Amino acid sequence: MILKSIYKIGTKQRNPSLDSYYRFLEKTDFWSKEKLLDYQLKKCKSLLEFADKHSEFYRKVFKENKFEPSSFNSLDVLKKIPSISKRDLIENKSSIQSNFVFKKLIHSESSGTSGQALSFLKNEEWDSHNRAAMFRGYSWYEVKPWDKNGYLWGYNINPKKALKIKLLDKLQNRFRLFSYSDNDIKEFAVNLKGAKYLHGYSSMIYEIAKTINSLNLKVSHNLKMIKGTSEKVYDSYQPEVQKAFGLKIINEYGAAESGLIAFECPQGNMHIAMENVIVEEENGEILVTNLLSKSFPIIRYKLGDSIELEDSNFKCICGRSHPVIKNVLGRVGKMVIGKNSKYPSLSFYYVFKNLAMEHNVVLNYQAVQHKPGTIVLNIEQNKPATKSFVEQELKKYFKDDVEFEINFGVSLHSKEGKLKDFITTID
Ligand SMILES: [Zn+2]
Repeated sequence: MILKSIYKIGTKQRNPSLDSYYRFLEKTDFWSKEKLLDYQLKKCKSLLEFADKHSEFYRKVFKENKFEPSSFNSLDVLKKIPSISKRDLIENKSSIQSNFVFKKLIHSESSGTSGQALSFLKNEEWDSHNRAAMFRGYSWYEVKPWDKNGYLWGYNINPKKALKIKLLDKLQNRFRLFSYSDNDIKEFAVNLKGAKYLHGYSSMIYEIAKTINSLNLKVSHNLKMIKGTSEKVYDSYQPEVQKAFGLKIINEYGAAESGLIAFECPQGNMHIAMENVIVEEENGEILVTNLLSKSFPIIRYKLGDSIELEDSNFKCICGRSHPVIKNVLGRVGKMVIGKNSKYPSLSFYYVFKNLAMEHNVVLNYQAVQHKPGTIVLNIEQNKPATKSFVEQELKKYFKDDVEFEINFGVSLHSKEGKLKDFITTID
């Protein structure tokens, strides 16, 4: 009860428009697709007009492409605006940032796996409406924002900052893992009693689950949701997580610039938060328009992920009409360098997917390349008997152009943060 009050007071100060927008999203949750599209069109038009008026960068882009925000009348017309990359955002940051004087701006930062950092200012509604969409997702699992929760993020916390972090965690009814010892994991597991949800990097959730299972820890909990963020949730994680907690990891998909893009419903489908974002797919890549992004307009942004969209007339049995992202395949852009050719790093995704589908061999992997034509492929499971299947699948994609050194029984977990499935030091 006290924590609910603390949450309410904190929200009133930081996110005054959250509550009313949350109530709006409760209503739109079961709107028809037509109604949602109609809403998107209006909201998009208003963002485009705003960008035209207040962002020097977009005014120029619109003009160059003969795009008239005032006559914007169909979402298809959006295609007239060229897509924008992270590099473009970084290089044109000051001319993108809107000159409108907002009552309140919140500092935001995105690091991204590509390593390019971007900092920008978010207006209060952007931040609040994004949180509201996340909390609507929580409500699908009967989780309240102030419920007790376990948090798995980077563990390497500066000791000087640890006290402040512990205090902030307390206020948010949150506890986390500070180190990766069996003892700390045991303590974390005991702490789960009374917690309603667990969230963080999916690779870390998986690691905790493995430790709990291998130590045979009895975890008494009443978790209602386990949410993976910032990283791909691999199917291969689910059996361990199910075994440890009796629940699977659900997907929250988004980024700092784009805001929340999609949230997985209890039926296992990632519904696009249409009220906040427009998602397009171009050559297998996602483009996002963030409808909340008035202070720093994000229009047709190439987030850098390969995605698969579900068929447009697909109907989820949960009853929501919001379209579904079938799969987030992984990062695009990074290339494997063979002796003669280049290959998309996404090829590994298909290699291991085929292994699972066709040979029933489920493996977690990380590929590392330091020189052209050679890859070290580390595999977590100690199953050297599967080597010939792995080699057979690799050949389908890389022929004899890449030589593989395959190691089994390698711990892939990085305590620093995100788990990467392909690391290259070749530029
Ligand atoms: Zn659904």
